[in-house]
Amino acid sequence: MRQGDGTAADGGEAALAARLLAWYDANRRTLAWRAPPGRRADPYAVWLSEIMLQQTTVVTVERYFTAFLARWPNFKALAAAPLDEVLAAWAGLGYYARARNLHACACVVAERHKGRLPRSEAELLALPGIGPYTAGAIAAIAFDAPSVALDGNVERVMSRLYAIDTPLPGAKALIRDKTLAMLPPARPGDFAQALMDLGATVCSPRGPGCGACPFRRACAAHRNNAAELYPRKGAKAAKPLRRGAAFLLYCGDRVLLLRRPPKGLLGGMSAFPTTPLDRDCDPARALAFAPVAARWEKRAGAVRHVFTHFALEAEVYVARFAQTPALAENCRWAKVAELGKEGLPTLMRKIAAHAGAIDGEGATWRGAVPQSTSKSPRARSG
Ligand code: SF4
Repeated sequence: MRQGDGTAADGGEAALAARLLAWYDANRRTLAWRAPPGRRADPYAVWLSEIMLQQTTVVTVERYFTAFLARWPNFKALAAAPLDEVLAAWAGLGYYARARNLHACACVVAERHKGRLPRSEAELLALPGIGPYTAGAIAAIAFDAPSVALDGNVERVMSRLYAIDTPLPGAKALIRDKTLAMLPPARPGDFAQALMDLGATVCSPRGPGCGACPFRRACAAHRNNAAELYPRKGAKAAKPLRRGAAFLLYCGDRVLLLRRPPKGLLGGMSAFPTTPLDRDCDPARALAFAPVAARWEKRAGAVRHVFTHFALEAEVYVARFAQTPALAENCRWAKVAELGKEGLPTLMRKIAAHAGAIDGEGATWRGAVPQSTSKSPRARSG
C-alpha cells in the first residue's frame, strides 16, 4: 500500500488544518479544564489536567480535576499543601509518581516562577513530571505556542491520514513532522485540541466514523478501506509477572498500615505490609516478609494488578492480635471502618477487598476478621 497523499488530494496541509478547525468549532468536547470558545485557557488548569490525563481516561480525570481545582485553585495553594494530602486526594488515579511530581512541580513554579507557569517548551520540560508530550500540549493549549502534542489519539489519526507503514514507536518522528507541517500559524492551541478530539470521538481504534471526519477525502487509510490497520504496531513484549503477598494484621477494630518509602513503587503511600514489590517472590517464602510472627491465614485466590512494567499476583494473608504489638516507626494502626478515608492506592484497595476488610471500592466494614489470636508479637520494619 502506498503512503497517503493528503497534500495532493485535498489542496495541501493548510486546507486540512482549516477543515479540522471548522470541524472542531462545531464538535469540540466540553471538558472541565477547557476554556470556552474564544477564551484563553487557565495555564494551571491545563497543566493539572494534562498531568492527570497521563495514562488515565477523561471520564476518570474529570472528577479528580474538579476536586483538586476546588481544593487547590492555583500553584501556590497546591505547593503549600502537605504532600500526604495531595497523595491521598490522588488515590485511585494510579501512577503515584505523577502525584509526587505534581506537588514538586507546583513547588518549583511557586518558588522560582512566582506561581506562574513558564511559557516555552524548553522551560516546561525542565519542570518535574513534564515530558515532551505534556510540554507540547501545555505550550499549545495554554499559551497558543506553535507546538504539537502527540498522544495516542493524534498518532492514530496521523498514521491513518498518511497510511504510515512504519510501526510505532519508530513512526513517532515522521508523525511529528507531518503534524508540524499541518500546524496552522493561527490557533495552534485549538489545532492541538482538535486533533485530540478527532482521535477520541471520530477516528476511534475500532470502527472509525470516517463519514463524519473532516479528513475523509484526503485520508489514505480510509481510501484503502484499511483504517483499522493503522497505526502499525511492533510486537508487544508481554509484561513479566511478579508474585508476592500482602499482610493484613488486625488488632480490635484496627488494621496495620505502613508508609512506603518515598521513592519507588507506590512511593510515600499508605499501604499494607507486603513482600518486596520490586522483584518476584516465591509464594513459599512469603511469610518471611510478614510484619510480625503470627498465625497467618491465607485467603483463597490472589489479587492481580497490572503496573506499567509488570503484572503482580499477590496472595493475601490475614492475622489478628488481641494485644497491640510494638510497631516499627513507619507503621501505624488505622480504623478498618475508616479505610476509605486513607487514600489507599488501588492495589491496596483490591487487597483489602480480597481480605474482606472493605466492600469492593468502598469502605464498608464487613467484619471478616479471623478469630484466631496471637500474643506479644513484635513488628518488623516495613
Ligand atoms: Fe480516521 Fe477515517 Fe478520518 Fe481517516 S477518514 S482520519 S480513518 S476517521
